[in-house]
Amino acid sequence: MKPIGTFGASAYQIQALQLFRGADSLRIAPLLKDCPIVLVEQGEVVADPQRARLYIVLRGALSVAADTRTGIADGTISKVLPGESVGEQAVLDDETNQASITALEQSELLVIESELAWQLIDAANGVARNLLRMLSFRIRAANAQLRRRQKLGEFYRQLSMVDGLTGLYNRAWLNDFLPQLVASAQATGQPLSLIMLDIDHFKKFNDSHGHLQGDQALRIAAQVLTGALRPTDFAVRYGGEEMMVVLPDTNLQVAETVAGRLCQRMRDAVVFDDMRLPLPHITSSFGVAALRAAQDESAFIAAADAALYRAKESGRDRVEVAK
Ligand code: GH3
Ligand code: MG
Ligand code: MG
Repeated sequence: MKPIGTFGASAYQIQALQLFRGADSLRIAPLLKDCPIVLVEQGEVVADPQRARLYIVLRGALSVAADTRTGIADGTISKVLPGESVGEQAVLDDETNQASITALEQSELLVIESELAWQLIDAANGVARNLLRMLSFRIRAANAQLRRRQKLGEFYRQLSMVDGLTGLYNRAWLNDFLPQLVASAQATGQPLSLIMLDIDHFKKFNDSHGHLQGDQALRIAAQVLTGALRPTDFAVRYGGEEMMVVLPDTNLQVAETVAGRLCQRMRDAVVFDDMRLPLPHITSSFGVAALRAAQDESAFIAAADAALYRAKESGRDRVEVAK
């Protein structure tokens, strides 16, 4: 930053500067007269970590990476053009300027020290009015940015709760929501059931038809689940070829019927059509449990898992109910 003169000796017009537009020039001019103008080269960093200052661009352009305190330091860059300023907030709250300011091209800047900025505000109402307008505009922009980020965060959060291959909820979802469903069922006394299923001999399926057809089989199995459930039920990919269905407001008897229906539909599902091969089919084994009094979510899952184990042991392609 190289000092090249003062505002009073320059040809720049007060009214061309946003901060002073419509304000009383006669009161402002004497205060600005000795205000220094500096020259900054392209790429040069404009900042003094020691003090709060206002910079008004007279010629050229600055790039400002958002101030961390406004919560929008996420790569948002704004461009400050001739007549515009940066650093008002630093002056107002008397903190050093935390935004990172760089010259986009060779620029001339009017440097207004914090103390002088206050004198200008005291001297002319118009300055205070312009300042309020500028700040209000910035708050609005920061809020809009914040809202966009919140929406984006929610989008990614939802994305991270869904399994990419099958579109079912994933383990992260289960860890988040099953405890809530269990707690609410325990509190209200409403039934809650769980069906755990595991595709039979899936390793062999992969070995015979290849991993890609295995993936396809998983997608089909997921479709069987989502196609057979009520909108209030949840289908989850628990891991590998193990899936789970959570049935709120459903007792053990009904859940067993649902599992029987799923078992049948899984058997009937066509994984892929290929006239040269015998139609590949998948079957699954099912374990069903209903939430018991004082049972927590891991005991609940363990009960369904134990029933599933029995279904495997007793021949697969069938439904077993927790004892
Ligand atoms: P069981 O009837 O006892 O369940 O036998 P299984 O072969 O299904 O059981 P095992 O747990 O031994 O094998 C599971 C197989 O599932 C092995 C693994 O390669 C396959 N698998 C797990 N996740 C995926 C996946 O995302 N895609 C594919 N294609 N295969 C998967
Ligand atoms: Mg398995
Ligand atoms: Mg299996």
